[in-house]
This record gives sequence, structure tokens and C-alpha cells, in this order.
Amino acid sequence: ACRVVCMASGKGGTGKTTVTANLGTALAELGAETYILDADIAMANLGLILRMEDAPVTLHDVLAGEADIEEAIYEGPHGVKVIPAGISLEGIRKANPDRLRDVVEHIIDRADFLLIDAPAGLGRDAITALSASTESLLVVNPEIASITDALKVKAVAERVDTQITGAVVNRVTKDKTELTKEEVEKILETPVMVEVPEDPEVRRAAAFGEPVVVRSPKSAAAQAFKKLAAELVGIE
Ligand code: ADP
Ligand code: MG
Repeated sequence: ACRVVCMASGKGGTGKTTVTANLGTALAELGAETYILDADIAMANLGLILRMEDAPVTLHDVLAGEADIEEAIYEGPHGVKVIPAGISLEGIRKANPDRLRDVVEHIIDRADFLLIDAPAGLGRDAITALSASTESLLVVNPEIASITDALKVKAVAERVDTQITGAVVNRVTKDKTELTKEEVEKILETPVMVEVPEDPEVRRAAAFGEPVVVRSPKSAAAQAFKKLAAELVGIE
């Protein structure tokens, strides 16, 4: 069965889009049939960091009922399938998030993984993305505000029957002021799947329109994303 995994966070900017692009690419590289979908309807940028900002048909057109989902699927690195969202205000206005469930239903018959890049917080679009998923990864930064916000998201995920698989702690510097892995696990009551270091290669890769696992596969961040992918497919 296809695992539909939502990247969720309370705060914006924790790294959901970065994790979606890199984990998706790493899963595809391991041979898993993987789709990544940009459900951040209002602040779409999955397409941007994969050099797909000019995609002629996007998820917005599909959610507006104006295009078939097949037309909005693009091939990314290592064969990962990408469903980008559009960036026009008009597209955002026309998109009906209730159609997301149909899109998910359409993909799950043929995929091993569908990763959903969700908006931050607990607005309607975020809850729609959570509800459409079977499980969720909490993407957090090692600071108390990020973790307490993620706790609220976790509570909502449980209410809509979306299992919490674990947390991804992103942008770890090991500074003394940061929460440790053990502290994060204790507060969130969920395992930390991986700690992704703060790594300048992430931003550099994004500037080139490539995931860091492709642009700098030896970098510390890339290694962490590959480890997470291996863990998800159960080969670690
Ligand atoms: P979100 O989708 O949760 O809003 P993004 O994935 O867009 O967050 O990341 C926000 C910013 O942080 C981006 O500029 C991204 O390049 C940068 N970033 C994310 N993860 C890392 C990391 N591990 N190291 C360095 N920069 C990162
Ligand atoms: Mg994002």
C-alpha cells in the first residue's frame, strides 16, 4: 500500500519543503515509486526549488477542476514525480482544497510513497493535507517555540486519524541553547527519526533548482536525508 506522508509543522520556515524535495528524491533513488505534491496552496514553493516554476499545468488547475491530474505530474531527479502548485493569486483563489482527496486517491494506486508538502499551522489547507494523509512527519527546529507549536499540530493530526511517524529535527547546529534530541522526544512524545544539520549546501542547492541530495550528495544534510529515506523504506 502507498504511504501518504504529510510534512507538518506549526511554524513556517522549519524546512517542510526542503524535506519533501530531498526525502522524495532520496526515496526515488532507492527505487521507490515516489510522488511529491505541493499542498501549500497559498505559499507554493516546491516547484521553485526543483526548477519547475514554469510548469504549464499545476495542482491549482487540477483543484480548480480545470485540468486532469495526469497533466500536472512532472519528472524530477532520480525519477521522482513532482506535482507542483502554481504561484498566481488567481490560481490560489480558484483552487478548491476539497479536491485534494481525489488527487491523493488517484496517485495511491501506483505509488509506494506520496509525500505532501503542507502549509504551516492549522488553517484549512493544512488540516485538509493532514486529513488526506495516512501518516505525518513533524518537521521542527530544535527550539522550544517550534516544538510547542508542533505539539498542537500533533494533537490535530491525531484527531483526524493521521498517525505521527516521528519528528524530523532540521537545522541542528548543536549549539548549547538548542533542545537536544532527547528533549524533543520527551516533549513531543514521538521518536526523532533524524537530525538534519544546518548546512549552507541546502540553500546553495536550492538556488540552483536542485535538491541537496543531488547537488551535494556528500554534504552533511544530504547524508541525513538519505538516512531518513533508508529508514522509511526499512533498509536500515
Ligand atoms: P518551510 O517549507 O517549512 O517553510 P523551507 O523548506 O522553505 O521551509 O526552508 C526555509 C528556508 O530554510 C529555506 O531558505 C531553506 O533553504 C532553508 N533551510 C532549510 N533546511 C535547511 C538546512 N538544513 N540548512 C540550511 N538551510 C536550510
Ligand atoms: Mg514550504
